[in-house]
Amino acid sequence: MSFPLDETDIAILETLIKDGRKSFRQIAKEIKVSTPTVKIRYERLFSMGIIKSISPILDMKKLGAKMDLSKSSIKSPRKTIKKIDSNLHVKIKCDYCDRKISEKPSILKVGDIQRFFCCPSCRVLFQDKYQRRIKALMNSQK
Ligand SMILES: [Zn+2]
Repeated sequence: MSFPLDETDIAILETLIKDGRKSFRQIAKEIKVSTPTVKIRYERLFSMGIIKSISPILDMKKLGAKMDLSKSSIKSPRKTIKKIDSNLHVKIKCDYCDRKISEKPSILKVGDIQRFFCCPSCRVLFQDKYQRRIKALMNSQK
């Protein structure tokens, strides 16, 4: 099962990579969607294993701070942190075909975002599929 990422997902990832301590409300304001939308997308990205891939940038302290800021939109921040923790040990999934990456991922840098792929051809296919969207997003953000 795989979900295609849309502009909102990409925008959330981009903004989180710039500053992982942002609350859902801050993200929502920045990318001009509703706070519940950010929360739903964020959780979905987590379940997809995509947000996990930026976790080496964030330390758990910062992650805790972010969760604290967004506690109004998360019923149980502690539970969420636990979920993040367990996700840290989950293998990276290919951003294109959603298969688990067992060895060294093929990495594509999109601005500040690193995307991971199981093989170079998935990377190329992803690039083809999202290049225009990603470019448009980056231009509209500045
Ligand atoms: Zn793949």
